[in-house]
Amino acid sequence: MSICPEDAILLAETRLVVREACTECGLCVAACPVGALSAPGTAAPAATEGRLGEHCDVVVVGAGPGGSTAAWQAARLGLSVLLLEKRQEIGSPVRCAEGVPHQSLVDFVEPDPAWISAIVDRAQIMALDSGRVVQHWEGAGGLGYVLERRVFDRMLAERAAQAGAQVRVKAPVVGFLHGYGTVCGLQVSWQGQITEVKASVVIAADGVESRVGDWAGLDTQLPLEDTMTCAQYLLSGVDWNPACLGYWIDEEIAPGGYAWVFPKGEGRANVGLGIQADLGRETALSYLTHFVEREPTLAQGSPVTLVAGNVPASLPCRELVGDGLMLVGDAARLVDPLTGGGIVNAMVSGRLAAQVAAEALEEGDTSAQGLAPYQHRVEGAMGRRLARDYRLRERFPPDRRATRTFLRIFAVATGGK
Ligand code: FAD
Repeated sequence: MSICPEDAILLAETRLVVREACTECGLCVAACPVGALSAPGTAAPAATEGRLGEHCDVVVVGAGPGGSTAAWQAARLGLSVLLLEKRQEIGSPVRCAEGVPHQSLVDFVEPDPAWISAIVDRAQIMALDSGRVVQHWEGAGGLGYVLERRVFDRMLAERAAQAGAQVRVKAPVVGFLHGYGTVCGLQVSWQGQITEVKASVVIAADGVESRVGDWAGLDTQLPLEDTMTCAQYLLSGVDWNPACLGYWIDEEIAPGGYAWVFPKGEGRANVGLGIQADLGRETALSYLTHFVEREPTLAQGSPVTLVAGNVPASLPCRELVGDGLMLVGDAARLVDPLTGGGIVNAMVSGRLAAQVAAEALEEGDTSAQGLAPYQHRVEGAMGRRLARDYRLRERFPPDRRATRTFLRIFAVATGGK
């Protein structure tokens, strides 16, 4: 960074890295526009108090698709809403292959080229055994999109703001406030201070690594066998049909999971894989490296980003509500256990949470009992489908997935016709 005389600080993605050459001269401390750096042995500069300390009807934790949809819909229903995101940039870094079906998306927003990288209407699925293709399916898939989530997620947060929600970035929630045995707000690290935010309802949309539900005593544990560990490159310079999604099911390529190629237009593609966390002998990244090397069309591409992340492949959390609290999206484990798709489920659950919050506030009962309709409506909207796909995953253990029946099931789950 230009301010450092030793050239010891560099910007990696959105994080600062300090090299060993740093002499702790302190020049960067004075230059930091948000007062986030401090000289060794001194306290961080006093922070100014932001506008966080007010009471809101609803506080939403996490500005992913689930949280932003919840905040947007709650604000539309006339509630006072605060949306808190720990990262400094909503939607970044992207930890997602970004595929969504058209039919589910248009229930929320009209498709917009600003946040769509590719329109897809075909799929090909290959099942391999000891490196040999034993099953192959190729055909029309449901119409769908590969999103540009960096833009899509931000668009949803902007919708929330336009509807009247307060949105705050770089505002990690670090704890809970309890009053009379119920959740009544949150502790937020905001501009160098821990600030308290009071709220009648907390919507936890803090993703797969969710802490909020756990703080409230809900069982959000994710066993290893129900966790998919993923790694993904955005490859540039790939020769791949821009309208076709590709899937590889193979115990060697991705034990307990699958590999994918989702085109992003202009010779780019999200190329990644997920492995069942208890089955991998190596890291997901090692499996991904082998996969790309063995596929000539992919090996010619260059990785321009690398992301890693986990996907829940479990049943939804048994309890989705607590006193003053609802779990949404990945935080509630509302991800399809066969495909790993969770964007639309997060949005659907976010909308339901907002509706139930409005009704509960109207009734003056935000206890677990008052919020119980949320649990019923989520179960009605997706419970059976998620339970069925979880059972199918169990019925077809990894060594039984290179079969015709499983291929057909997988094709239907991923939108194939
Ligand atoms: P997230 O999108 O994870 O958002 C949670 C937000 O909460 C984040 O912004 C996070 O920074 C914030 N947060 C966390 N803790 C705090 C805190 N303490 N305070 C404040 N903010 C906090 N799904 C699909 O539908 N299609 C796909 O193609 C697809 N591919 C995937 C590929 C990979 C490699 C992975 C890992 C996942 C994929 N998924 C896919 C799943 C999808 O990304 C998730 O299901 C979806 O993002 C869930 O949305 P969410 O809003 O629940 O959580």
